[in-house]
Amino acid sequence: MEVKNKEKTVVNNGKIMSSMGFETKAIHVGQEADPTTGATITPIYQTSTFTHVALGEHRGYDYSRADNPTRAVLEAALASLENGKHGLCFGSGLAATATVLFMLKTGDEVVCSDDLYGGTVRLFDKVFTNFNIKFTYVNGTNTKSFESAITPKTKLIWLETPTNPLLRLTDIKEVSKIAKSKNIILAVDNTFASPYFQKPLDLGADIVVHSTTKYLGGHSDVVGGAIISNDDQIHKKLKFYQKSVGAVPGPFDSWLVLRGIKTLAVRMKKHEENAQKIAEFLSTHPKIKKVNYPGLKSHPQHELAKKQMSGFGGMISFEVNGGKDLVKKLVESTKIFALAESLGGVESLIGHPDTMTHADVPPENKKKLGINESLIRISVGIEDINDLINDLKQALS
Ligand SMILES: *Cc1c(COP(=O)(O)O)cnc(C)c1O
Repeated sequence: MEVKNKEKTVVNNGKIMSSMGFETKAIHVGQEADPTTGATITPIYQTSTFTHVALGEHRGYDYSRADNPTRAVLEAALASLENGKHGLCFGSGLAATATVLFMLKTGDEVVCSDDLYGGTVRLFDKVFTNFNIKFTYVNGTNTKSFESAITPKTKLIWLETPTNPLLRLTDIKEVSKIAKSKNIILAVDNTFASPYFQKPLDLGADIVVHSTTKYLGGHSDVVGGAIISNDDQIHKKLKFYQKSVGAVPGPFDSWLVLRGIKTLAVRMKKHEENAQKIAEFLSTHPKIKKVNYPGLKSHPQHELAKKQMSGFGGMISFEVNGGKDLVKKLVESTKIFALAESLGGVESLIGHPDTMTHADVPPENKKKLGINESLIRISVGIEDINDLINDLKQALS
């Protein structure tokens, strides 16, 4: 039966233009006053189902796995922040990643950069290889390495830039040229930069993936994911898989992320300002061997960072001059930096990739990449910079 009235009751009414600035879009796109009550802030539509107007006619929503008004607002807002047409939200970043992978078929191949989030590698190598999908990992800092790994079976290129935890960059524009010339979909995990500092769709990517758990949510109180795209065909497929697989976020989780993105711009500015100062402090510290931060002139891809990003973000990794003992002392004696996984919240975190976020990455891969026992990762929060530097100083003393 044909369903009439596909018009959504909660959508951006067009007053907010795509030409508006990032900060304005984050606060307003999709977020008009609620049409039924006038509520200024998007309500949490905590309902699984929607009462139809008549047989074969509903108000644009029938069941919350398929569509929910709170989620729809978030999807519209996130799409606008990435300069994309379509947004889809998920119960976690990995649920979003898996949904992209569901577009593939047995026998297809994926070329990926070699320094990916540990959970992404686990999903690729331990889950999707069971369905006979092949993943080839290449050095993401070298654009040519993608070209040489592509075969006639390659259907997807998967990038993360800057990478976790080594903060390496891949030239999105150059890889997108290769992908386009061979009709391969390019997906970029933009979690580390956030759309405030980097817009992969503008640089030629087809799909952007986020763990909204991180900077978009921004307060370490929600787990979520998102996919943003421009191509109608790609979106149609992904939307079908979102509904069919069902890894969707609940209305309250959608609302938390929606609330988070309203302050994304001011938070990212402060994360970056603090991170730059901490990276400079660490660079001159005698107990620190090496600092990885794209905002440092010493970063081998500082020029590329300036070209494809509008800021360098809030993530830093560094190697200490010493082994396990110094690592243990450092991560256990900070008072403000909490020893925890995850990133992108207002509070500062410190972690040990080798035994925490990247514990599941095979040792030989870690060795090849340079993820060793002396490597520490910090997610710089938006606290007072002097307190953060003093905290690291006392922990390193
Ligand atoms: C956290 C993270 C993910 C996974 O997201 P979840 O929300 O934890 O499922 C993917 N990519 C990157 C870069 C991440 O930091």
